[in-house]
Amino acid sequence: MDKIKVIFLDRDGTIIEETESGVIDSIADLRFLPKVVESLQKLKFDGYHFVMVTNQPGLGKGRVNPEGFEEVQKQLIKLFAMDKVFFDEIFVCPHLEEEQCNCKKPKIGMVKEYIEKNDIALDRSFVIGDRSTDVGLAKNLGIKSIRMSAANDPDADFTTNSWKEVADFILDYSF
Ligand SMILES: [Mg+2]
Ligand SMILES: [Zn+2]
Repeated sequence: MDKIKVIFLDRDGTIIEETESGVIDSIADLRFLPKVVESLQKLKFDGYHFVMVTNQPGLGKGRVNPEGFEEVQKQLIKLFAMDKVFFDEIFVCPHLEEEQCNCKKPKIGMVKEYIEKNDIALDRSFVIGDRSTDVGLAKNLGIKSIRMSAANDPDADFTTNSWKEVADFILDYSF
């Protein structure tokens, strides 16, 4: 079996737009970032697997309604599936900083088991996210990072706020 190439994706601010309140627990608030679906399709055709990795402390704080959160997740998965984009796994950390969990990014707890049980080409895998904690996750996993941001992040391997550029950057790495 060939090793698999994986893209670990943050959700808020990366796949979907952040809301002003930071709370996304209603389908009405669900908005994809421009070109994210097309870009993931292209990357899928190139053989990439996708894993969603999201910190959701709003769940732990009670600011995000859990049923609403589930509805948004279901809708998001359904919309991607309509365009034949699927996630191998979806990992959610609901914890607060003070709970000192092992899964809150940049810690690797959410993806540890996935990485252990799959044969992953780490040299061709990426973390994509809009926060420094996403870049930190990539560093802790020893893989490349793409920061979704308008301002350059010198710690990331690549910074852009354009999904088209994300796809082009990753496809340039493929061999
Ligand atoms: Mg984010
Ligand atoms: Zn956690």
